[in-house]
Amino acid sequence: MTASQDFDVLIVGSGLAGLSAALHLAPTLRVAVLTKRQLADGASGWAQGGIAAALAEGDSFNAHVDDTLVAGAGLCDPAAVRFTVEHAPPSIAWLQALGVPFSQEGDALHLTREGGHSARRIVHATDATGAAVQDTLVARVRATPNITVLEHHTLVDLVTSCVPGQAGHQPDQLGTARCLGLTALDTATGQVRTFAAPHTILATGGAGQVYLHTTNPDTATGDGIAAACRAGCRVTHMEFIQFHPTSLHHPQARSFLISEAVRGEGGQLKLPDSAGGTRFMPAHDARAELAPRDIVARAIDHEMKTHGLPCVHLDITHQPAEFIRAHFPTIHARCLALGIDITRAPIPVVPAAHYTCGGVRTDLRGRTDLAGLHAIGETACTGLHGANRLASNSLVECMVFARAAAHDIAQHPQPVTHVPPVRHEGRTLAGSEAAAVARHRDALRRLMWDDVGIVRSNARLARAGQGVALLRRDVHTLWTRFAPTRELLELRNLVEVAELIVRSAQARAENRGLHFSTDNPERPDVALSATVADADLGAA
Ligand SMILES: Cc1cc2nc3c(=O)[nH]c(=O)nc-3n(C[C@H](O)[C@H](O)[C@H](O)COP(=O)(O)OP(=O)(O)OC[C@H]3O[C@@H](n4cnc5c(N)ncnc54)[C@H](O)[C@@H]3O)c2cc1C
Repeated sequence: MTASQDFDVLIVGSGLAGLSAALHLAPTLRVAVLTKRQLADGASGWAQGGIAAALAEGDSFNAHVDDTLVAGAGLCDPAAVRFTVEHAPPSIAWLQALGVPFSQEGDALHLTREGGHSARRIVHATDATGAAVQDTLVARVRATPNITVLEHHTLVDLVTSCVPGQAGHQPDQLGTARCLGLTALDTATGQVRTFAAPHTILATGGAGQVYLHTTNPDTATGDGIAAACRAGCRVTHMEFIQFHPTSLHHPQARSFLISEAVRGEGGQLKLPDSAGGTRFMPAHDARAELAPRDIVARAIDHEMKTHGLPCVHLDITHQPAEFIRAHFPTIHARCLALGIDITRAPIPVVPAAHYTCGGVRTDLRGRTDLAGLHAIGETACTGLHGANRLASNSLVECMVFARAAAHDIAQHPQPVTHVPPVRHEGRTLAGSEAAAVARHRDALRRLMWDDVGIVRSNARLARAGQGVALLRRDVHTLWTRFAPTRELLELRNLVEVAELIVRSAQARAENRGLHFSTDNPERPDVALSATVADADLGAA
């Protein structure tokens, strides 16, 4: 067992949130960035649309605030919304100063417009904004001497000064408890290592992998949310999972988004039936395929469940082939590589879990309930998104709260508390037990998709609750008997997050924002959320 290693700040996760925080802290503090795979991995590099900031002439902070509040369907924290909106322009300037090659129009930034935004407000780098940002930040972090990068290190648990299960395990009892560091699995060696620091930042992204269909990368298993919950922090708004209506359905194409611009250019949603494809959206909403995201996702879910379909079709073949190739080069190339020529055949699509609005509750400094622990990015629930996220508000949230957390940490220096190495022993997971881990993960993702997806009901949520409880028992047995592997600890976290989503969904006896149950009475908020994203074209 190796001795623990200490730093001034431990950052878990290397997406936009984690890397931004590291760069803000490094000039004065010794920072370690631990990341599950490689530095560039995560959702941030996959973002296509862009970053929202009120920069255009005629736009205003008030308008950006209002659009965000409308999307959030009454559950945003107005202070968090204003804080984010007002800090968005300096965050963009910071990225520009670092050298991110944003699309320009003359000397100014080119701004696009997305659904739910009342002005042109989206800063972007063509249609690959996340990759441009992530490439720049990764290069900067690698060149910064004060930052130690620990790739292939997966957070296992936080180390705190209180014992879970005893006093201090409830948020209102956390009292003087502190986060003292963490344990992480070095997947290259299979060893669990202990790290000590007076400050830890969770930036592990969302939890889309808890669903069978998701646009999220494999890394999005809700690890930070689950770890913070185990340490006694409040986790809120987990019922609000944003589903993207159209992701590619193909066995070799996981997590590939089919832009909403395809529907914007006249793409029609059809049943894959013998009648040659019956169009179904007009029966669900007068705006048909151009209805808001949540309505289109619900309609597809309804048709798939009613007809027992694995997917529906999105047909853009009425447009000339040249037009399709020019407007959708990436989608065309990706589908063609899989044998689907979208100029001649419809695209098989399913809705997919896209964004986790809830997470670890934080204040405007990114502080959680546990002293010494901050949470930022998609892992956190700052109050910005409320019951539904406005397109392109998440990348900006990552940067604004990374800076706020870094500032807070720099203002409150603390000595390192020695943490003795934490032991994690057990047999090596192999054979049928290793197969059970993979089987449980599949079962959980299917169960969540079927029963806690886009359209919920009391009976389905109750069934899901029982299923998750059974899986939790089995996973607990595996966890206590075997040495951790990345697969096992991800499963442990996915089960934890699934339980949080089910419980939050059961507790919300109203249809609001992204939460919809057939057993809840209709309420005006549904109509409210439906006003969002009318022109939701190309948004992500
Ligand atoms: C396809 C797609 C398109 C999107 N487009 C947009 C857009 O245009 N605009 C917008 O605002 N938002 C968009 N989003 C949402 C946005 O990309 C994310 O919300 C944002 O990137 C989250 O950043 P993050 O730093 O919090 O997490 P991530 O970028 O996901 O990074 C999380 C990091 O944590 C690491 N990690 C996870 N668990 C552990 C662990 N246990 N131990 C160590 N490391 C761990 C991961 O490997 C990763 O490095 C999009 C999302 C997707 C999936």
